[in-house]
Amino acid sequence: MIVHLDADAFFASVEQAANSRLRGKAIAVGGLKRGIIASASYEARRHGVYTPMPTSRALRVCPHLIMVPGDYEKYEHFSRFMFTYAYDFTPEVEITSIDEGYFDMSSNRRVKPEAAAEKIRQAISQSLKIWVSEGVASNKLVSQIASKLHKPRGFVMVEEHREREFLAPLEVKWLPGVGPKMQRTLKTAGLTHIGQLSEMPLDSLRMVSGNRAETLREYACARDPRPVVTTREEAKSYGHQRTFNEDTADEERVYNILRVLADDLIEKMRSEERCARTISVKIRYSDMDEVERSESLEEPSNLAEDFYGPIRRLLKKAWDRRVRLRLARVKFSNIYPGFPIPDLLRAEETRKRNVVQEVLSDVRARYGRRALMRSHDWALAASRRVKSD
Ligand SMILES: [Mg+2]
Repeated sequence: MIVHLDADAFFASVEQAANSRLRGKAIAVGGLKRGIIASASYEARRHGVYTPMPTSRALRVCPHLIMVPGDYEKYEHFSRFMFTYAYDFTPEVEITSIDEGYFDMSSNRRVKPEAAAEKIRQAISQSLKIWVSEGVASNKLVSQIASKLHKPRGFVMVEEHREREFLAPLEVKWLPGVGPKMQRTLKTAGLTHIGQLSEMPLDSLRMVSGNRAETLREYACARDPRPVVTTREEAKSYGHQRTFNEDTADEERVYNILRVLADDLIEKMRSEERCARTISVKIRYSDMDEVERSESLEEPSNLAEDFYGPIRRLLKKAWDRRVRLRLARVKFSNIYPGFPIPDLLRAEETRKRNVVQEVLSDVRARYGRRALMRSHDWALAASRRVKSD
């Protein structure tokens, strides 16, 4: 059995835990730079504030709302504490984002998964003064949906062999990857509930949802083979490296390659609805000496361009010997659930960059990586061409 844990209104709850004057009050985190609410306390939600919502509208529906700027370092701290309680019960913990994770309880035969879940929830609330919701089920998909169904302080256990029955009456938006766009598409075909998806012949479903049909069908039937991948007391990260054909001293070329690696990881994070705050660059010299440097953004992001500046700086910082490089690596850590929602972004420039990022993903998914290039893709492609000439 797998337990999925998901903290309730995480950023807002941490702020209330850390400052007793904010407890019991309508507060919201974020808002300033991006102009949207990143997290709202349940008191604020009762007044109609939700996430994501433009800050200006939130202040209209709830004039006494207290806005707190995001302190992401603090959230990362709380997150690390929170997951230590899971390790008391099983070493198989997969931390998927700052406030969500799976624990595989199969190796622990002494404690029932639901009892462990209960103890973890109580321990977190007592020591950290924040609440989490949990779902218990035989696979990741069902446990994740179960944890989110009755927030806050929710606890839902789905017994084995009843998974499909559990999902059937739920709206399709509960399935991972079904955003507002896909939900609308399915609705035009009369598909509003998960049960309908599970009964639809695959061929017909393909006509509606294209190449996503197979996964959708599997999920709708409550089938999910993904294992819990232990993250070893360290939250999930995304990393990619490249070993050069021959050792290089060309800084511009290494910078271009790092950006390509980062682009691919961003693509992966976006498809998993995640974003990151911290980026690291590691280099390996031709004499095998290695250096790694990292930097954190003020707020998490999943826009590639937010990371290009840091990559340039980190590469310069790391590469301080006059020795050629053999390998370079990019890693994203401090992973957050994926915001922002493009339509709601007030900051025009961020909104535009989000559109560019989405168009880039769509075109590349359909026509291949080389169909649309950024300048660094172009530069690398051109240098390859010169070489082969
Ligand atoms: Mg949460």
